[in-house]
Amino acid sequence: MENILSVKHLKKTYENGQQTFNALVDVSFTIAKGEIVSLLGPNGAGKTTTVSIIGGYLIPTSGQVFVNGQEITTAKRRPRMGVSFGGELGFYRNATAKQNLAFFADLAKIPYRQQKAEIERVLEIVALKNVANKKVGTFSKGMTQRLHIARALLGQPDLLLLDEPTSGLDVEIAKSIRDTIKYLASNGISILLTSHTMTEVEALADRIVLLGSGKVFATGSVDDIVNLSKVDHIDRPATLEESYLALAPQLRRN
Ligand code: ATP
Repeated sequence: MENILSVKHLKKTYENGQQTFNALVDVSFTIAKGEIVSLLGPNGAGKTTTVSIIGGYLIPTSGQVFVNGQEITTAKRRPRMGVSFGGELGFYRNATAKQNLAFFADLAKIPYRQQKAEIERVLEIVALKNVANKKVGTFSKGMTQRLHIARALLGQPDLLLLDEPTSGLDVEIAKSIRDTIKYLASNGISILLTSHTMTEVEALADRIVLLGSGKVFATGSVDDIVNLSKVDHIDRPATLEESYLALAPQLRRN
């Protein structure tokens, strides 16, 4: 299968004065076209550091990240990648959804004559077309989250980085956002998802990368992680949450 993302031996050492801290020791994994991969691990495992390096916000101490075969730190042109960290911030509250997206389309260097169609395309995907001319300040949390995803989709990226995409949303809205994520993957977009919600990971992830202490502890499907945990019930298979809880002590930093 074609790999859209390939992360090779990432290491990140933070230096604060005399002190150094190895946030990432050795992190390698891949994401194929149309695959949803979830980074899972306890607080401090290195998820944000890994995503920030892939997104180009942090420079690794060593190691490489390839998107579509291009090494991102040396690429002359940034490969097409959409990043959504979500949250309440990031948009002009007094401007409409369309106006906000036009601003980001400019930043993404989408040619002016293509912007209108591109903005309509992404608004359609996230089901915000009917509120395109409403001010973002009036949006609910769920609508704002959808707009974050729309922004990340501008320019038709091959890879999406989604951080906690349904955090703080009610069950129904969270489900509709998950359906959108599944739809995107079924259309060939590769997705790296970070989430602390086990049911979300269970519902979405084709594969899980289990991080602990800055290292990849295991990679595999939900079933692989359940098998690895050796948690078993007589009447039903273990859930991902039960399996994760059994493995968690091994993932924590000493
Ligand atoms: P969480 O689930 O809490 O978001 P995480 O898995 O995303 O955790 P990171 O934020 O990547 O973990 O942090 C990995 C480790 O690196 C943590 O121990 C953190 O304290 C440390 N760290 C992160 N940023 C810095 C920094 N700028 N300087 C020093 N240490 C840092």
